[in-house]
Amino acid sequence: MIDLRSDTVTRPTTLMREAMYRAEVGDDVIDVDPTLDALQCRTAEILGKEAAIFMPSGTMTNQIALRVHCKPGDEFLCDSDCHIYNYEQGAFAQLSGLVAKTIQGKQGVLTLEDLSGSIRPLNEHMVHTRLLCMENTHNRGSGKVQPQAEVVRACHWAHDSGLQTHLDGARLFNASVATGLSVKELSEPFDSVSVCFSKGLGAPLGSCLAGTKEFVAKARRARKLFGGGMRQVGVVASAAMYALDHHVERLTLDHAHAKRLARTVGEFDFLKVMGGEPETNILIFHIGPTWGTAHEFAVELEKNGVKTMAFSPISIRMVTHLDVSSDQIDQACEAIRRVATRAKSA
Ligand SMILES: *Cc1c(COP(=O)(O)O)cnc(C)c1O
Repeated sequence: MIDLRSDTVTRPTTLMREAMYRAEVGDDVIDVDPTLDALQCRTAEILGKEAAIFMPSGTMTNQIALRVHCKPGDEFLCDSDCHIYNYEQGAFAQLSGLVAKTIQGKQGVLTLEDLSGSIRPLNEHMVHTRLLCMENTHNRGSGKVQPQAEVVRACHWAHDSGLQTHLDGARLFNASVATGLSVKELSEPFDSVSVCFSKGLGAPLGSCLAGTKEFVAKARRARKLFGGGMRQVGVVASAAMYALDHHVERLTLDHAHAKRLARTVGEFDFLKVMGGEPETNILIFHIGPTWGTAHEFAVELEKNGVKTMAFSPISIRMVTHLDVSSDQIDQACEAIRRVATRAKSA
């Protein structure tokens, strides 16, 4: 089975498992796990921040960032399709008493023009606007890379207006290899940055949240509160280390694979690729009603050996990653052609 549902389905490679087996460990709640300490220092350095802290998931790094930047009754700005707003159970409201102000962007891209006027006046009727959140690459935006010049403008505006800025960089390494800009450059406009090791980088789990030392100290306290303090965590930190050493440059191959899938989808008039050629490893396309629903299309693809995700009643998402070879991409393209050219089975 060729699994294109997400880049989270990647399994640790044999060499990654060997690195995990050899990892030196300690109790990271009592004092320190040396392998985790090395990962956190390295992540802080590559993101150009003072410090970084490891957590089990990107949801936790995002939610703790929001909690540390804001107080109950504060509001943050984000685009209406972002992960923080759509896929984290409104944890910012449930756990931290925060309000989201969503702004409609284009494929997840917010410009200064979209944002201006969105900060609340200071008076006793209203919540305080405290933080701007952005997402790079943008998941629901078909893996779109945020144009860095717009990011810089928006973050300058936010800082000039007294806001903090947070980047959900679950796939920031994809953005980096796609643009040739370093993850440090992409992170520079933000006060805090979250990155995932469990997506295209292929580690079994884990994310890091980076920022100032003071910010990370507060995040460490919040991580314990949220149940995210971990003991001999070097076992998984070593997988993330391995991923940083071996799985970053190869993301260009995943991006080439997504473009190939998109070209195949583009052969059919009733299928429409969202946002043009994919910039990174995510492809979203719409199914014309003449063929049927996205769910039906996904079922037919699965019968042909390809798992995908029906992302909405009319759209399918495919994500390329290190567990899918170029040969398997050829097979997936053939499966798309077979499904698209045939009436769906009864
Ligand atoms: C996957 C993802 C996350 C984090 O998800 P977890 O499953 O909690 O690790 C955050 N933001 C974006 C954009 C993502 O795609």
